[in-house]
Amino acid sequence: MDAEIIAVGTELVLGQVTNTNGPLLARTLSAMDIKAPHQVTVMDDQEQIVAAINSARQRASLIFVCGGLGPTTDDVTLKSTAIALGTGLTTDDQHWEWIKETFKARRIKMLPDNIQQARYLTGGSPLANPVGLALGSWYEHDGLQLVVLPGPPAEFRAMLEKSVKPRLVAKYGTGRRISSRTLNFLGRPETQLMAEIEAATAQFSDMTVTSYVQPSQIQVRINVYDLPLAQANDLLEKVTAAILAVERPYFFGFGDKCTLVGEVVKLLTAQGKTITGAESLTGGLFQSTVCSVPGASAVFRGGFVTYAASAKERLLGIDPAVIAGHGVVSAQTAAQMAEKSRERLDADFGLSFTGVAGPDDLEGQPAGTVWLGLARRGQPSQTRELHLAAYLGRQEIRNLSVQYGLQM
Ligand code: ATP
Ligand code: MG
Repeated sequence: MDAEIIAVGTELVLGQVTNTNGPLLARTLSAMDIKAPHQVTVMDDQEQIVAAINSARQRASLIFVCGGLGPTTDDVTLKSTAIALGTGLTTDDQHWEWIKETFKARRIKMLPDNIQQARYLTGGSPLANPVGLALGSWYEHDGLQLVVLPGPPAEFRAMLEKSVKPRLVAKYGTGRRISSRTLNFLGRPETQLMAEIEAATAQFSDMTVTSYVQPSQIQVRINVYDLPLAQANDLLEKVTAAILAVERPYFFGFGDKCTLVGEVVKLLTAQGKTITGAESLTGGLFQSTVCSVPGASAVFRGGFVTYAASAKERLLGIDPAVIAGHGVVSAQTAAQMAEKSRERLDADFGLSFTGVAGPDDLEGQPAGTVWLGLARRGQPSQTRELHLAAYLGRQEIRNLSVQYGLQM
C-alpha cells in the first residue's frame, strides 16, 4: 500500500512559501514504514486539485490533501476533494455552534463563509483541530483512505500528532522499530566528519548514521533497526563510543534539541560558575545568545559591547599601547578584553570576540579573521584564531564566532 501527499497552495507552487507540511508528513510516514514515493504540489484551483486526486488514486490507497481549508473564496480544497470523490459536504453542527461562540467571545464579526470550516467530507468523519477553526476530514471508501488537513503549519502539526498518527498506528502498526540517538558537533566540515564516522562505524550492522547540517551545529543521528530494546541500546552505546573515540574534540552534546549554548549554561550552572564577555565584532550577540537560555541568570550577570577601540579603552581599560602595538584584531587585544571583562565583573570566565565581520578588510586582515580570548579565574588566559570563509557573510561570521567562543 502506497501513500501520496498532495500539498495545496498557490503560494507553495510559486515558491513564496516553503512547503514544510509535506516533508513533515513524509518523515512521519517513513518512520512508520509507509511509503509515499509520489508527492505533488498544486495551486488553489479546483481543476488541478481534482486532477491530482484522480491521478493519486491510480497509485495510492492512502491520500493526504493538505491546505486550503480557510473560509475565503481562494480556498477550494474541500469542495474540490468532494467533487473528485463524488461525494458531498456535511456540516458538523456542534462544531459550527462552537465557531459562532468563539467569534462572539472574541467580539469579531463572522463571515457567512466561516461555516465552510465546520464541514467535512460526506461519508467520512471530521478530524478535530485542537489549535484552529477548520475541521479536517478522514474519508474511507472502497479500500481508499483520503485525509484532508488544514495548511497553517501549527494546525497541521497538531492534527498530525493528535488525530492522524494515532489512527495510522491503529491501522498499520508502528512499522519498523527504530531506536535512535542524536550527537551534536561543531567545528568539522560535514563531509569530513561523516567520512570519518563512516570509517569508524563500518564494523557495525543493523544501523545507519545520517547527518543533518544546522546553522550552528551538525547533528549526527544513529538509527538502529528492529532490535529488542536492550540490544538496541547496547548497539547505540557501542556506535556512540566508536564515533566519540574519533570526534570527541568536536562533540558537545546529545539530543535533537541540544544547543551548544544550552550545554555551556548547564555546565556553568552545575559548577556554580559565572561568565561574562567583551564583544567587538559580535556586538552583543554572545550575550544575547546566553540570555536566550532559560536560567541564564544563574551564570550571567552582564558584559560589555566594545565596538570601537575607544570603547575598549574606556569600558574595559584596555591599554592603548596593546591596540596600537598589535592591532584590534590580535591575540593580545583578545586576551586583554577577556581578562579585563572577567576582572571588572568578578566572573569566573571572561570570553572575548574581536575580528573582521566584513565585507571589508580591517587592519589588512580579510573578513572572517577572528580572535577569541578566554580568561579564567586563577589561570592563564587562552586565545584562539579563526579563519572563517569570507563568503559566509557578516551575520554568519558573527554567529560562528559566538559558537566557537562557546566551544572554547
Ligand atoms: P486558513 O484558515 O488559515 O486559510 P487553510 O487551511 O486554508 O487555513 P492555507 O490557506 O492553505 O490554510 O494556508 C494557511 C497558511 O499556511 C498560509 O500562510 C500558507 O502559506 C501556509 N501553508 C499552507 N500550506 C503549507 C505547507 N504545505 N507548508 C507550509 N506552509 C503552508
Ligand atoms: Mg492556501
